[in-house]
Amino acid sequence: MNDPLISVVAPVYNEGAGVERFVARVAEVMGEAALRFELVLVDDGSTDDSWSRIAQQAVLDPRVHGLRLSRNFGKEPAMLAGLDYATGDAVVVIDSDLQHPPSAIPAMVRRWQAGAHVVEAVKTNRTGQSLGNRLSARVFNKAFTGLTKVDLVDATDFRLLGRPALEALRRMPEHSTFFRGTSSWIGFTRATVEVDIDHREGGATRWTLSGLFRLAVNGLTSFTSAPLHMVTLAGFSFAVFAVVLGVQTLVRWISGGSVAGFTTVILLLLVTGTFVLIGLGVIGEYLARIHEEVRGRPRYLVQERATGPAEAAVPEQWVVEQRADH
Ligand code: UDP
Ligand code: MG
Repeated sequence: MNDPLISVVAPVYNEGAGVERFVARVAEVMGEAALRFELVLVDDGSTDDSWSRIAQQAVLDPRVHGLRLSRNFGKEPAMLAGLDYATGDAVVVIDSDLQHPPSAIPAMVRRWQAGAHVVEAVKTNRTGQSLGNRLSARVFNKAFTGLTKVDLVDATDFRLLGRPALEALRRMPEHSTFFRGTSSWIGFTRATVEVDIDHREGGATRWTLSGLFRLAVNGLTSFTSAPLHMVTLAGFSFAVFAVVLGVQTLVRWISGGSVAGFTTVILLLLVTGTFVLIGLGVIGEYLARIHEEVRGRPRYLVQERATGPAEAAVPEQWVVEQRADH
């Protein structure tokens, strides 16, 4: 491993002018550290000019490769597409909005060369996020870690994976992937590098509340069945409650002091109704996951690719492909 190739994989969704800035920054950092690299930019169905900018960068610099997904699949599938495409000895997954500082890559590579298979960038701050955002991220992380034993606290998607770890990750077939979770689940020797997460340049976060909710539900359903056990547990506590209340009601009725408890009846109906519906919802989420996995649709579709000047003459239009290895 004298001169390893580092693949930098970045999902791009409506980053516009940010594309050039990002490519320049990565090239600058890698050049300074004298690291051989390829940059895989995955256009996740952007509606702006991101793709033409990526294609242009690919023509200008043979180390830049572009993949265009056929529509907006989401960040997770976009990252996977890039990981499948990457050919390096190690891959670094990084956001293309420069919130993850490319300047941390050389330190991550050094950790990898020192023997770590997975190097995670850990946040030292969370600037550029509102207090509410920060708080909900904390709560989500804590709850997630508690339930799944996958450590997510202060974790980011900004990670380096060595080839063996990457191949292990790629063997995980689930449709709804959760990179932070799966890249922890695989194990391997790990190391961390502390980074300052920069202010977001250009526009607000692309995450919507419903998107975050889906991510949380996906993360939970793929890493733990604890919510299902909680439904069972809630059922048992209700059974105990029912026996106590039942006995009390019967005793009152026998002793002739039965009260006309219309309010009690309404309250009981509301409480049990809520619990039953939440229980059904939890089961439904798992059922939906199973349904999605069983359909076995490809996780992403590539519409076209943009590679170096040599290949640009014959652009591979409308390449619809899926993962070749299974
Ligand atoms: N992204 C993507 N597809 C999406 C949403 C986001 O590929 O549907 C990319 C986006 O271009 C960026 C990264 O994922 O490189 C993180 O997105 P964003 O900055 O909006 O999220 P945040 O930094 O708030 O977590
Ligand atoms: Mg961002």
